[in-house]
Amino acid sequence: MKRAVLVHPNPELKIASLHVDEARFGSDELNELVKDLKEAMEEDKGIGIAAPQVGVHDRLIIVDMADSGPTAFVNPKIVSRSMSKIDFEEGCLSVPGVYGMVERHKKVKVKAYSQDGYPVTLSLKGTLAVVFQHEIDHLDGILFIEKVKVYTHGGNVQI
Ligand code: ZN
Repeated sequence: MKRAVLVHPNPELKIASLHVDEARFGSDELNELVKDLKEAMEEDKGIGIAAPQVGVHDRLIIVDMADSGPTAFVNPKIVSRSMSKIDFEEGCLSVPGVYGMVERHKKVKVKAYSQDGYPVTLSLKGTLAVVFQHEIDHLDGILFIEKVKVYTHGGNVQI
């Protein structure tokens, strides 16, 4: 099913998403949602997307991983953050045409599940660390524009 990416100020983007029950792991319904999210992300040339961006309030994100391509992470949680921070130029599929510098932790450790329910732990740095922080913010109803220190003229990262 084709799902449209919601655009700010749609109030759906401000609703916190709910934990995905393990009974849904591996289900056709969850697999279908993952497929739809990947399609929406690729159509808009994003490198990450969160379920609430298509109006589904499940704690589910897709991130384009360097090695394995677009990958689903269910119930992702940041379990540790580096003290050091970086300023990163972000854009967002739900805030088209707007870019800005956001301060993020340089490294994060994330625990999540695959769509089939396998636990994964990721130690992330650089762009991927930023993408996970941006997407997990979406699950809490937070948009990057609430964190922008300074707007910029454009970038090439849509997350
Ligand atoms: Zn976004």
